[in-house]
Amino acid sequence: MKREEPSLKRYLNQVDLSADLVVAGGGLSGVCSAITAARQGVKVILVQDRPVLGGNSSSEVRLWILGATSHMGNNNRWAREGGVIDELLVENTYRNPEGNPMILDMILLDKVIQEPNIQLLLNTAIYEVSKKDNDIIESVEAFCSQNSTQYHLSAPLFCDATGDGIVGFLSGAAFRMGAEPREEFNEGMAPTEEYGELLGHSLYFYSKDTGKPVKFVPPSFALNDITEIPRFRNFNANEFGCKLWWVEFGGRLDTVHDTEKIKWELWKVVYGVWNHIKNSGDFPEAENLTLEWVGTIPGKRESRRFEGDYIMTQQDLVAQRKHDDAIAFGGWSIDLHPADGVYSERPGCNQWHSKGIFQIPYRTIYSKNIKNLFLAGRIISVSHVAFGATRVMATCGYIGQAAGMAAAMCVKNGFQPKDLLTAENLKNLQQNLIREGQYIPDFSLADENDLAQKAKLSASSEYQFKGFEQVDLWKSLAIPSAQMFPLKAGKLPVFTVQLHALADTKLEVELRISSKKGNFTPDDTLVQKNVALQKGKQIIEIDFDLALETDDYVYLMFAGNPDVEIGFTEQRLTGVLSVFNSKNKAVSNNGKQVPPAGTGVDEFEFWCPQRRPNGQNLAINISEGQSVFGVKNLLNGIDRPVSQPNAWAADLDDINPSVNLSWKTAQVIKKIDLWFDSDFDHPMESVLMTHPENVMPFCVRDYIIKNDNNEIIYEQKNNYQTRNQVIFEKEITTKNLTIELQHPSGNIPAALFAVRCYADSKNI
Ligand SMILES: Cc1cc2nc3c(=O)[nH]c(=O)nc-3n(C[C@H](O)[C@H](O)[C@H](O)COP(=O)(O)OP(=O)(O)OC[C@H]3O[C@@H](n4cnc5c(N)ncnc54)[C@H](O)[C@@H]3O)c2cc1C
Repeated sequence: MKREEPSLKRYLNQVDLSADLVVAGGGLSGVCSAITAARQGVKVILVQDRPVLGGNSSSEVRLWILGATSHMGNNNRWAREGGVIDELLVENTYRNPEGNPMILDMILLDKVIQEPNIQLLLNTAIYEVSKKDNDIIESVEAFCSQNSTQYHLSAPLFCDATGDGIVGFLSGAAFRMGAEPREEFNEGMAPTEEYGELLGHSLYFYSKDTGKPVKFVPPSFALNDITEIPRFRNFNANEFGCKLWWVEFGGRLDTVHDTEKIKWELWKVVYGVWNHIKNSGDFPEAENLTLEWVGTIPGKRESRRFEGDYIMTQQDLVAQRKHDDAIAFGGWSIDLHPADGVYSERPGCNQWHSKGIFQIPYRTIYSKNIKNLFLAGRIISVSHVAFGATRVMATCGYIGQAAGMAAAMCVKNGFQPKDLLTAENLKNLQQNLIREGQYIPDFSLADENDLAQKAKLSASSEYQFKGFEQVDLWKSLAIPSAQMFPLKAGKLPVFTVQLHALADTKLEVELRISSKKGNFTPDDTLVQKNVALQKGKQIIEIDFDLALETDDYVYLMFAGNPDVEIGFTEQRLTGVLSVFNSKNKAVSNNGKQVPPAGTGVDEFEFWCPQRRPNGQNLAINISEGQSVFGVKNLLNGIDRPVSQPNAWAADLDDINPSVNLSWKTAQVIKKIDLWFDSDFDHPMESVLMTHPENVMPFCVRDYIIKNDNNEIIYEQKNNYQTRNQVIFEKEITTKNLTIELQHPSGNIPAALFAVRCYADSKNI
């Protein structure tokens, strides 16, 4: 038994901890930042005020993680973010294709606690900052209500990933809140005061069918007059979770200090909406539904944005400006909301896409005046308009990874964030990031430590791309449809297309490319043709008699014609897709983006793939085989399709596909890094939305690695991850490595983006 005499004052339990880096906030940006830094050998303290990780993606808020892929509803092909955020999304899709938010919590916790360099403090809120010399943070104070402990956390570097930027705010870092006037950055999308300057908070609910009638008695604080919500005419009793993004409020309040007030208003709306659905009599389909879950912590969209040495603006996104210090990319639309939220007569959001993904510069991810403070997540240095696009969670995670890697380089060299601004340090940062899977548009890896670069490389076969001729099904051409072809520069091949005309008709055919290399907006029409079709099945040959200036994707497009069916094949291939000019209202894709005058955004068509099990390729054959899957692609430093597939693929008839690396002299190898195709075009929404498959069909599942004695030195079965790091307990010495892979299925050849070999397993 413990007894204490009465006392005038008692003190909280006090714990002092120090590390190389304190990451404040365990949302996706904090998690990705902490894991990235920890894997580089940095001692990290990750402080999260909630009981689970994930921030807005956690089971406490339940937003689905999205990024540049935009639900597959824009023209950003193969644009899922790489590195740690990719690993998390692939893992979640594998373990949790049902999109259960509790499982995502579990996966995030699991990933973090597997990092020996991370000390995780859950339920611990940072509330105070101490500095030296005015511009250097020395320590932060945090309090855990669960163990009644006060933590004093000191480190040479801090990363603020708290959403509201508590560390930045308390340390005196320059920040902004509310929209910039249009003149400040000449942004056509800058909102008027009437539209509002801040995005509000939202609360979601989940409903569940119990199989028997359920009554609902609303709380006293539920909204009575549902007509106050203009959207009430369009309620859908079966919508829940992320589909309720429009239950938004607070854009005219202080979205930091009024958060509790905003939460009460949102509860009022949620229970009022549910009362209306259950008790108005207008929704008989809701008879058996019960409220399974209501959010208790509002999802916060916008509050403070901190200033770095550069502020990204609308033009960075729309013109896809290039930056020498690019460290990440974004690709969500500029997505602004009326500040009156659920009470506004306006559409709940105003989304305008860019023609492709855009770079995010390093100068936006550290404070301009606090010397040792990194910024990650939604608080980075962007204008209100640019924030509309950078704020989505996969982008936030990507930014977090860059901050984590930059912090690791600072720790290693005794630097502060701005010391990385030299050309050499920036190059190293970019190279270190790309090596870990962070695709940065217009940059590639040139790794002198990679022994594979010095090897003689060969493969048992190379897939010669000839299009597809096997017809497995016929589908209507009512929707404008296109097939993407990765082609080599030079004369275009002749295209052979299998068609079924239901009547004599004419078919409009076009050949397009993207006007900007690396984009997937087919906005440059090279040639148009009208093809006369007679009723019945037929094979037509189209010779455009044109030459392609550089290796690129071309789009063979067919205008919509309900009188025609076209042959599709079940064969799929890394870096090859069919796309359709259809609509995706969830991301404001109406087939064509036609912006109002003066907004400064582009007009263009959307051509997007369909989700599996649809999305088959069109059965179109080409006259000349294209050598676009050569083994050399394994060493080109780009690990996803961009303007070419950038992958080696084996011939499907090759019964034992393999890649061989040989050196003149024996090499000492500690680590082999393999990069597989986990379908970067798939958004892998983390919750609510279910996925028909938990392993991507292009991903090699089984492979073995052999040494120069033909001994198996590594075997992998049932792989589903993008990156496989093979780290040998003891270095191997060999003049030869053979990687034997199994085709993932009879319809899809084995493919690989990269193989890298290292003499040690240390990173930077
Ligand atoms: C309703 C809504 C819908 C949205 N829709 C989508 C969508 O569909 N897809 C998408 O990707 N994005 C969406 N967004 C945007 C996205 O959720 C946010 O921009 C993103 O979560 C920001 O990431 P973050 O890591 O900066 O912050 P957060 O995800 O908010 O994470 C910050 C973390 O820091 C913690 N923290 C805060 N203060 C402290 C403190 N003092 N001490 C310790 N920890 C602290 C918080 O608890 C939180 O866990 C939406 C946002 C909202 C609100």
